[in-house]
Amino acid sequence: MSDLLKKYTDFLDELDTYNQAVNVFTWDLQTAAPDMSIESKLKALSFFSTKAFEMTTSDSYAKMLDELLEPSVFEALPDYIRYAVTENKLQYERFKNVPTDFYSEYVSASARSEKVWEKAKEENDFAMFAPHLEKMIAMKKKMLAYTDPGKDPYDALLDQYEKGMTTKDIDPIFDEIKAGLKPLLAAIAAKPQPDINKVNGYYDVEKQRKVQDIILKYQGFDTKSGTTGESAHPFTMSLNESDTRVTNHYNTTEPINAMFSACHECGHALFEQNVDPRYKKTAAGEVEMMGLHESQSRLYENILGRNANYWIPIYDQIVELLPDLKKITFDEFVSIINYVHPSMIRTDADEVTYCLHIILRYEMEKAIFIDNVSVGDLPALWNDKMEELLGIRPANDAEGILQDMHWSDGSFGYFPSYLLGSVYDGMILKVLNEQLGDIDTILREGRIKEITAWLKENIHRHGALYSSKEVLKRIGAGEVTAGPLLKYFNEKYTKIYNL
Ligand code: ZN
Repeated sequence: MSDLLKKYTDFLDELDTYNQAVNVFTWDLQTAAPDMSIESKLKALSFFSTKAFEMTTSDSYAKMLDELLEPSVFEALPDYIRYAVTENKLQYERFKNVPTDFYSEYVSASARSEKVWEKAKEENDFAMFAPHLEKMIAMKKKMLAYTDPGKDPYDALLDQYEKGMTTKDIDPIFDEIKAGLKPLLAAIAAKPQPDINKVNGYYDVEKQRKVQDIILKYQGFDTKSGTTGESAHPFTMSLNESDTRVTNHYNTTEPINAMFSACHECGHALFEQNVDPRYKKTAAGEVEMMGLHESQSRLYENILGRNANYWIPIYDQIVELLPDLKKITFDEFVSIINYVHPSMIRTDADEVTYCLHIILRYEMEKAIFIDNVSVGDLPALWNDKMEELLGIRPANDAEGILQDMHWSDGSFGYFPSYLLGSVYDGMILKVLNEQLGDIDTILREGRIKEITAWLKENIHRHGALYSSKEVLKRIGAGEVTAGPLLKYFNEKYTKIYNL
């Protein structure tokens, strides 16, 4: 290894130490920290992320990157280091003009705003959250003026979560989905619906944790480099290169939500765990394309998890742990997990109406960042859009605009990734059926790990090396289009609802 490359990897090691500290504090704040400890933990969190920020905006770092980018040096580097250096330089250019004080103020303001949002949602009090939301929007706009001057602010946000995607790309895809789902949802609504309350009973939390363990193992989660926790909202987080954690949230009256959260978060975790080990600690190992990430979690949650065949190999074990499930037949279980109906809460929505929940948030974000709609007008705008898209109106802000965490910590532009993930899934399913053989059969025969292995080989191991558009082309899925997703919905629900 050349001296320069050694200097670079030593730098990444040191940076990783600060990032690990940030991750441990973030994990603790979201899973365990008691209220009284929050302020001092936020201070520590801001200290370590500011250290990392200073390292990656320093002149010596810029000089090292420039030396690595010298053509004669650059050409000799391995491909993932070339990717990492190029990406580092890009991010350096974006963040070098952000004042350190502003950056640390942003970090603590977003963590504080998230905590206030939690309370505001609990107490159904939008007025409590409004000043924080206003501050996050203002700070985000100011941040974008530093990092992406001259760029359309909403496109700049989209680019952070899904490289290369702009409103120009997304508008026609989402419009096609909006139009395509209208007749399907009308046809479904006209049919008899399953009685979802039949599943209600008592489901022991300890036993539900064991069901999660079964699902994680079944899908291929590696417990030697991963563990589980609990939080208000399920999420996945890599604390370092060999520590990927998933959380869940349990309800004692019904177990299905937690089962599907396990499928989903495990999909994220598999992506993280299966990245080529050489890429770890470099930008090539950090998959920040959230559309691609969500395509993996949503593939396990929806395309595979809502397929009856997914459950056949493990259903007996699950019922043994959760005896109240014996009150329903397997076929009833399958219709309950595929019950399609408009509802208020995104995270409880079925896979079809879910798309409209995301389109609503996409349109809201465009209203905030393109049309500059004021914070006071947002709750009513939300409710109007809910009525327009889903035909129902929230009774209060807790089941309306306050329901999601994303805007509280400044994650504007993230929501579209969920639906892009599903769009990619329609395309990936088509390829899987062509290349691996009939997916229904593979699942029914308990060979789901063959699907995980295919995803690892074709998608996961490459980490961030290829953009989502490139990944889809490389696997033979072609240009991004909503067609396959709509086809999957139409074929599947025509069968299930006998349309
Ligand atoms: Zn997710």
